[in-house]
Amino acid sequence: MSSYVATLMETVRAKDPAQPEFHQAVEEVADSIQIVYDKHPIYKKTAVLERIIEPERVILFRVPWVNDQGEVQVNRGFRIEMNSAIGPYKGGLRFHPSVNLGILKFLAFEQVFKNALTTLPMGGGKGGSDFDPKGKSDAEVMRFCQAFMAELFRHIGQFRDVPAGDIGVGGREVGFLFGMYKKLRNEFVGVLTGKGLNWGGSLIRPEATGYGAVYFAAEMLGTRGETLEGKTCIVSGSGNVAQYTAEKILDKGGKVITCSDSSGYIFDDEGIDREKLAFLMDLKNNRRGRVSEYAEKYPGAVYTPVDPSLDYNPLWDHDADCAFPSATQNEVNAKDAQNLVNRGVYLISEGANMPTVPEGVEIFLANDVLYGLGKAANAGGVAVSGLEMSQNSLRLSWSREEVDNRLQGIMKSIHKQCLDAAAAYGKPGNYVHGANIAGFLKVADSMLDQGVV
Ligand code: NAP
Repeated sequence: MSSYVATLMETVRAKDPAQPEFHQAVEEVADSIQIVYDKHPIYKKTAVLERIIEPERVILFRVPWVNDQGEVQVNRGFRIEMNSAIGPYKGGLRFHPSVNLGILKFLAFEQVFKNALTTLPMGGGKGGSDFDPKGKSDAEVMRFCQAFMAELFRHIGQFRDVPAGDIGVGGREVGFLFGMYKKLRNEFVGVLTGKGLNWGGSLIRPEATGYGAVYFAAEMLGTRGETLEGKTCIVSGSGNVAQYTAEKILDKGGKVITCSDSSGYIFDDEGIDREKLAFLMDLKNNRRGRVSEYAEKYPGAVYTPVDPSLDYNPLWDHDADCAFPSATQNEVNAKDAQNLVNRGVYLISEGANMPTVPEGVEIFLANDVLYGLGKAANAGGVAVSGLEMSQNSLRLSWSREEVDNRLQGIMKSIHKQCLDAAAAYGKPGNYVHGANIAGFLKVADSMLDQGVV
């Protein structure tokens, strides 16, 4: 680590000591762009990274609501408006009990670079709440979303800040949030993405993150003259990203052998085929059940509950070719990374945000793994959110094929930007350097153009 990065990280840690995920995300980018700083001192002179790591605005608010028993509940709401150099703030809302300022700052920071890579004009933001939708009735979720929007509506807008979904925020929640925004503002605009198809949503938006992660994987394999046909794939999670990752792997002729939730994971040696995937989607999206029920329905599959006494996750300890972490941050530790390599995995495409700890990333890079980091590999979701905004502005809806073709073109472009930037700065084939440098340069140059604001 250079002395510049060491000093920067000391300051970041001293300012916000309780935000380890944010430190982790900043350190990765700072390390990657050191070579840019060496070549172009203007960025250091104008303190561009120092400015990017400070959110333009943080909104923190009380969310009081009433549960089905008539009891008053209080949650905390957040919106981090991180960077608007290249467009309005854009990024998802996460509803999960683990949500805090540090986690949302890491996600908003990642979003800045990811959005820059999409080729679309979107700044970076993120938000959410420590509200846990699990076990809540539809009426409770609706009342919570309405209370959340009763404050958030003042801060967002189609040209200012356009939230979307993330963990715990899917079509149901976006619907309740949009309804409340419309009532409060008395206007029908594309202020949220991930909307229902009948009221301004885009085809392919639900599929986009998972499909995009597989398109990115296909591009990476292409550099070695390979395809996904016949490849065995480990997928974690069973939510939006995991489901559509699995679907696209099947489309490409691959085999999916795992899925998971926060209680445990499924290993299905025969593969999760289309019928089983349809069961999983219905279980998770409609019945809101646990993945353990998959093994009850398909006795050939094995369910393993989470064992907190283990220092590794057995999900990552199966023979396979490719892995798609699609649940949450830091779900692949160093031991998991080593297990993946030992089991023959040579491609990682991250649907989740920052799912691999830094030591794990080192192991992948040292073993010549095709490692597609989240901010490049999972950018398909926000890219199609950007296309949803375009369609809303045009007051048109594009066909499934049109959106899917644009998504594939964007994932190809992100892949190329990563490889080009990595090669230009002497790190050929390194997607970590490539994504961070390409994303940084677009945002940094825009900030230089716009002065110190
Ligand atoms: P989701 O539909 O809510 O699904 C999340 C999945 O991950 C669920 O299976 C959940 O299990 C599991 N999970 C969540 N927290 C966990 C934890 N602490 N430990 C173990 N498992 C956990 O969310 P999603 O939209 O698929 O998001 C998954 C990841 O992709 C996140 O990192 C998100 O930031 C990233 N991402 C999403 C999008 C998007 O468009 N949705 C775009 C880019 C990146 P439970 O059901 O038990 O909670």
